[in-house]
Formats: sequence, structure tokens, C-alpha cells
Amino acid sequence: MSTATATLYVVATPIGNRDDITLRAIDVLRGVDRIAAEDTRHSRPLLDHLGIHKPLLALHEHNEDAATRQVLDLLRAGESIALISDAGTPLISDPGFPLVRACRAEGFAVAAVPGPSALVAALSVSGLPTDRFRFEGFLPRRQQARMAVLEALRRETATTVFYESSHRVLDTVTDMRDVFGADRVLVLARELTKLHETVLVLPLAGMCERIATDPDQQRGECVLLLSGNRTPDEQCLVGVDDLLTMLLEELSVKQAAALAARITGRKRNMLYQRALALSADAASKAD
Ligand code: SAM
Repeated sequence: MSTATATLYVVATPIGNRDDITLRAIDVLRGVDRIAAEDTRHSRPLLDHLGIHKPLLALHEHNEDAATRQVLDLLRAGESIALISDAGTPLISDPGFPLVRACRAEGFAVAAVPGPSALVAALSVSGLPTDRFRFEGFLPRRQQARMAVLEALRRETATTVFYESSHRVLDTVTDMRDVFGADRVLVLARELTKLHETVLVLPLAGMCERIATDPDQQRGECVLLLSGNRTPDEQCLVGVDDLLTMLLEELSVKQAAALAARITGRKRNMLYQRALALSADAASKAD
């Protein structure tokens, strides 16, 4: 297969098992003039393994604007370029969006060379409904911001997929239990396509306990898949934020959190943190 000139190829690479590279990905990587890689040192062993020795160019989150301009110049000069990330499909929680957008705006051809992605791999083995799903990527690292994102997902009925670092998986799953309740089912898909591939399916309370007591579950790379909300409970009709906002009109943060805990049966401390954030938000809007 010959590669076209002045074309950007968005090429998926393996998420663990090198044999998952596609025949077309190999062809394209062999045919292009240059490869833009998220981390050239990371991609070199895969390319060496495939016998591909093309000029590499780094395109990562810290140089994305400058690297995008550089790739556009090369495309204008007629080069064909492949974009790869450290693993999986570029742009899926990986660099490349500004480049693809700019290529489209300038009228350059952008060709998909599809292949592995942890998102689709995890969904395909989770046993959760896949007819509708929502991808949330990485949650914020700070707990308050993370809780706000989770709260906003309480009524979501579709399977929701998150990427998470194994260092934070216990904190995140604990927050999920506090927001979605002990019984909501979570799937932890770890080390997919690798030697220690594991897929655990447990209610959130059981998952917290399992991760806390089994250090292996806090190693490697993981995807979290949360089952959709199937119980149309009254708490969903009035979300926690709506309830706290109403209570804060009349009560102090402490009183609002205590009353909300009695009404919803949720943890007082979690509600207190949320009420604090809401009242700080309201105060800054009033300034
Ligand atoms: N672009 C990639 C893709 O298409 O899957 C994702 C890149 S993102 C920076 C890396 C995250 O993907 C990891 O933190 C983890 O959540 C997930 N991930 C990547 N490889 C994985 C694997 N083999 N098993 C489970 N999760 C994986």
C-alpha cells in the first residue's frame, strides 16, 4: 500500500500486547515520511520491533501548539505524517486534537488507521450494556472537583467509562460509593491485553473493600466502568446539589449538610464538603 502525500494518518498502536498492531498500521508507519509521537523514547522500541526507522517528531501536551505548527508546515511541503500516542488511539485522552482540528481547517486529508483503545476493549469485556455509553476520560485529581463531576453523573442511565491511575483508584472508587451508593455495580478492567489482565465486577461497597485489601488491584493500568442508574429513586428527582442549594438559602452550611444527610441518607461529611463548595461558589458569583 502506498501512502498519500500531504496526509495526516491517525494511527492506533497496542495498549499492551504488541501483536495487536494492525497490518495496515504497519504499512502506514512504513510508508509515511515522518511519525509524530507523544513520547519518542516510548515509541522507539515498538517501531524498532517492527523494523521501522523513520524520522520522529515529538508531539505531547507540553509542546502541542509548536509541534502542531511544525506538522502543518511539513504537510504544506507535501509530507505524509503518522500521528501515534504512547498506547491506543491518539486523541482519546491523548494529544492530537489541536492538530486534527487544524488539519481539517486547512483542508488536509486526515485518515483513520483504527485499532486498539482501552475504552472499547474494556467495554467489550465488561458485561455492562454497550448500546449507549458515556466516556468521561480522567476524573479531576482534587477530591472536591472529582465529587462535583460524580454528582453531576448521578442520573446518568448509560454505562459510564473512566480512565484512572492505579494510584488513585481506591480514592476514586470510594468517592463513587459515596455518590452512587453501595449497590451500584462497577467494573474494574485492569492490564487489558497484558499478562495480568483482570476484570472485576462488584457492587461499589464490595469493590472498595476488594481494592483496599488486595494491593494487586492498585497496580498497572485500569479502566472503571460504572453501570447506569437503573433505580429511578426520589433522590434523583431532586439532586443533592439542588437540595443543598435550597437548604443553604435558609440554613448554615453545617445545618444544611445535617438536614440533607437526614433526608437523603448520605454521608454528612460528604454533604458538608459539597455544601461548602456550593456556598463558596454562590459567594463568588455575588461578588
Ligand atoms: N489513547 C489511549 C486509548 O486509546 O486507550 C488512552 C491513553 S490514556 C493517557 C491512558 C489510560 O488508558 C490509562 O491510565 C488507563 O486508564 C487506560 N489504559 C491504557 N492501557 C490500558 C490497559 N492495557 N488496560 C487498562 N487500561 C488501560
